[in-house]
Amino acid sequence: MKKTAHIISHSHWDREWYLPFEKHRYYFIKLMNNLIDQFKKEGNAFESFHLDGQTVLLEDYFAVHPENREIIKQLIEEKKLHIGPWYVLQDAFLTSSEANIRNLQIGLNDTKAYGHAAKIGYFPDTFGIYGQAPQILRQAGIDTAAFGRGVKPTGFNNTVSDSPNFESPYSEMIWQSPDGSSVLGILFANWYSNGNEIPADKKEANVFWDKKLQDAEKYASTNQLLFMNGCDHQPLQKTIPQAIETAAALYPDYTFKHSSFDQYTEALKESLPEKLQVIEGELRNQRTDGWSTLVNTASSRIYLKQWNNYCQTLLEKVAEPLATINFLAGGTYPREYLRFMWKSLMKNHPHDSICGCSVDEVHREMVTRFETVSQMGEVFVRENAAELAERIDTSETPEGGIPLVVINQTGWKKNDVITKVVDLEKVYFSQMHFEDIPFYLQDKETPGYKLINDQGETIECQLGDPVVEFGYELPDDKFRQPFFAKRAKLSFFADGIPSFGYKTFYLVPAETPEQFTGPDKMEEKSIEMENEYVHLHFHEDGSFDLIHKETGESFQRLGIYEDTGDVGNEYMYKEAKGHGAITTNGKTAEFKFLETTNLRTVLEVTQTLSIPASADDRLATERNQLIWHKDRVAGRSSEKTTITLRTVVTLAKGMKGPAFRLTIDNQARDHRLRVLFPTGLKADTHRADSIFEIVTRPNMPEEEWENPSFCHHQQRFCSLADDHIGLTVATDGLQEYEILADGTIAVTVLRSTAELGDWGNFPTPEAQCLGIQTAEWQVLPHEKDVIQSQAYVDAYEYKVPIVAVQPSIHKGLWPTTHQFVESEANGLAWSSMKVAEEQDDVMIRWFNPTPEKMSLKVSIKDYQSYKSTILEERTNQTEEQYKAGKSEIITLGFYQKG
Ligand SMILES: [Zn+2]
Repeated sequence: MKKTAHIISHSHWDREWYLPFEKHRYYFIKLMNNLIDQFKKEGNAFESFHLDGQTVLLEDYFAVHPENREIIKQLIEEKKLHIGPWYVLQDAFLTSSEANIRNLQIGLNDTKAYGHAAKIGYFPDTFGIYGQAPQILRQAGIDTAAFGRGVKPTGFNNTVSDSPNFESPYSEMIWQSPDGSSVLGILFANWYSNGNEIPADKKEANVFWDKKLQDAEKYASTNQLLFMNGCDHQPLQKTIPQAIETAAALYPDYTFKHSSFDQYTEALKESLPEKLQVIEGELRNQRTDGWSTLVNTASSRIYLKQWNNYCQTLLEKVAEPLATINFLAGGTYPREYLRFMWKSLMKNHPHDSICGCSVDEVHREMVTRFETVSQMGEVFVRENAAELAERIDTSETPEGGIPLVVINQTGWKKNDVITKVVDLEKVYFSQMHFEDIPFYLQDKETPGYKLINDQGETIECQLGDPVVEFGYELPDDKFRQPFFAKRAKLSFFADGIPSFGYKTFYLVPAETPEQFTGPDKMEEKSIEMENEYVHLHFHEDGSFDLIHKETGESFQRLGIYEDTGDVGNEYMYKEAKGHGAITTNGKTAEFKFLETTNLRTVLEVTQTLSIPASADDRLATERNQLIWHKDRVAGRSSEKTTITLRTVVTLAKGMKGPAFRLTIDNQARDHRLRVLFPTGLKADTHRADSIFEIVTRPNMPEEEWENPSFCHHQQRFCSLADDHIGLTVATDGLQEYEILADGTIAVTVLRSTAELGDWGNFPTPEAQCLGIQTAEWQVLPHEKDVIQSQAYVDAYEYKVPIVAVQPSIHKGLWPTTHQFVESEANGLAWSSMKVAEEQDDVMIRWFNPTPEKMSLKVSIKDYQSYKSTILEERTNQTEEQYKAGKSEIITLGFYQKG
C-alpha cells in the first residue's frame, strides 16, 4: 500500500523567550503577512498552516493589523489556517488545575467566532504533561493529543521493556488518565521539526527524504507519516508546493500531501493497528538519563511562581466564587471582566514564561503583568464583597456596635483566626473641617469593646491600639468621599464559617471589655509553640521537633537549611563540583517571640550562613564555550559571603501545623537553597499535588537515570507517609521538591543561576535573584497518608484567604448567617465555583483524589442541578446524589427553576 507523507506547515511560536515579546512579535507579524500573501497567490498550491495551537497569536496579530481580521477569518473558515484549541501554550505543571482548564475553555471560546478549531490536544514543546490531560481533553470533545516530550520511543521491532508505562514502540499510542479516559497520543518522535526546510532541489531533496522517511518509518505504526514543516519561530517556507512536487517525482511509492492535523489524524485513525501501547498517567521523561528533563524550571526565578500562585488563587479561589455568591444573592456576574483577568494572567503562562527560562526583559515584563492582574483582582474582590455585604441585613446591630461580615467563598468550612482592620469611628470631610478631624478623633475617648456573634455569644478576640488614619470611599453615584477614621486591628477566631456562605459578628461597646491575652512566654528558656493540634520544640540551631498530638507521633529536627553550588542554567540544576552541602545544622540561631497570645504565637528565628560568593572562574568560561551543564566541572569560589535567614514561624488557633515565612537578602550567586524535613519515614513512593490529581511517584528514579538530582514538580504540596503517619509540606509557589534516600523532603526555596541554557549563550544575570527573596510553607503532620487522612484539604486551604467586610448598618434581604450552596462532598477536593460563560448557570467543580467511587450531594435553593463537563454544557443528567468515579473531575451545573 502506498504510504502518505503528511506535511504540516507550522511555526512553534514562543511569544517571548530569547527575545522579549515585542521583538518576537515583530517577526511574527512578518510571518503572518507572508502567510496571507502566500495563500492569496494565484495558482498556488499552498494549502494549510497550523497556527501552533494557541489563539492568543490572533490577538497579537490583530493588535497591529486589525484591517486583516476578515481575511484571516476567511482562511480559518476555509480550513486553510488552523487555530486552537488552547489560548496559550502553557506550562502544564507550573500553572494551576483551573488554569489548565480555563486555557482550553477560553481558547475554544475564541475559536467560535471563526467556526473552526483544530481539535487536537497540542503540547509540542510542553516540559512534561500531567496525567489527567486525556480526561480533560475527552471532556472537551477532543480524542487526540500530540506531544514532543515525556515518552521514550523505542522504535519499530523493539520490544517494550520492564517499565512499559513510559515507553512505546511507535510514535502512536494510547494515553490514559487515572480515571480510565484515554486519547490517541501522537509523539513527535523525531521532534516537531522533522519536516523543516524541505528542499525543492532534486539532489538535496533526495538526501533529505532518504533520511527523513526512514526516521519517520522507524516509529510509525501505519502508512500515514507525519512531517512537521516548521520549528521554533520558523519563517514561512514559501516553496512547499515546489518541494512537494519534487518529492512526488522522486518517490512514486509515496503520496506527498500538504496536510493538516484534521486530515492526518483522520487518515491515521483509519489505519491504526489493533493494539497500541497504553501509556498511563503523567509524561515526565521518566525513562531518560535525567539530564534534559527541564524539571528545574520549577525553581528558576521562584518569585514568578509566587506571583502566579497569588494571582491564580485570587482569581479562582476568591474572585470567582465570591462573585458567584454575590450573583446568587441577587447581583450580576461580571464574566467579561473575569475572562479579561484570566486572559491577562495567562499571558504569563506559556512554557518559556512561567518556567523562568527566558532572558531578563521577559521576566521583568511578566512581573508588571502579574501586578496588573493583582490590581484588577483586588479591586474586584473588594467591590464584590462590599456589594454582597450591603445585601445582608445588619439592622439588628446592637446600639453603638460595628457589624462585620465574614464571607467564606470557598468550598471548605472554615475555622480561622481572622485579622481585620476595623473603623471604630469615621468623620467625613463633609462633616468637619479636615484639619480638625484628627484632633477630634484622637481626643475622643474610645470605649472598650467585646466581640459577639449573631447569637449574642461572646467571641475570643484581640483589639489593637487605635490609630487615626486617612481614608476615602468611591460611591457609585457621587464624588469621592474622603474621611479620617479611628481604626484598630481586630483578631478573632471565626469558628465554623459555612462554605459558600458567611456569618455576621458585632464589635459592641462593653463596660468590661472581654479581650484575651495569653501568658507572656518571652522569658521562657526553652523555645516552644503549641496549639490544639501540634507541639513544637526548637533546637539551638533553629530546627524543630514536631509532635502530632492526636497520634503522639513526632518528627525530629525539621527545618534545616541546605545550600549547594549550582553551575547549571535556568532549565537544569547542576551541583558545583567538589563541594558538599553547607547547612544550618549545629549552627546557633537567635530566637525572638513576636507575639504570644491565646490566638496566635509568632516566633522569629534568625540564622546566618557563610557560603561561597559565587561559582569559581571556570563557570564563565564554560558558559562562553557552550559546554553543556552536565559536563561542567566548575566549582564554588573561595570568596565567602554571609546570608542571613530570617524565618517567622506562626502557629495560630485552628492551624493543623506551623506556617513559615523565610526572608533572605541574597547576595550570593550560582547556588541553591533548600529547606529539609528529615521525616525518617520509610516508603518507596510519595505523593504530590498535580493537576486534578494527588499523584504517586517513586522516591528513586528508573535505572537509566544518571543525574544525581531527582527533583519533581508540585502544585501546592508534597507528602511522605508510612502506614501509620505522614508529613505534608504545603507551599506558596515553591514548586520544586526532592525526596532524598533517607526519607527527607527537600523543598527548594531559592535557586540562583545566570544563563538561559539553550542553543547559545544568553546571559540572564537577574536569574541570580539577588536582594530580598521570600519563601513560605506550612508543615502538616497527619495520621496515615495525605489522601486517607484528608490532610490535602488543609494543604489546599493554605494561603487561600476568606474575606471580612465592615458593612454599614441597614435592612437587607439576607439573614445574618447564610449558606448559598449546601454540599456533602466529603472525600472530594473542591476546585472552583463560577457562573458559566454562555448562560447564567452556576458551575461548581471538584475532583476525586481517591481510587474509590465517591458520592456528591449538592443543592442551591430554587436551582436544578445537572452533571456537566469542563466546557459547561447543560445536560439532562440529573441525580439526587451524584457519583464521582475514581479520579474523576466532576463539574455540576445549576440553573434557576421555573
Ligand atoms: Zn516552546
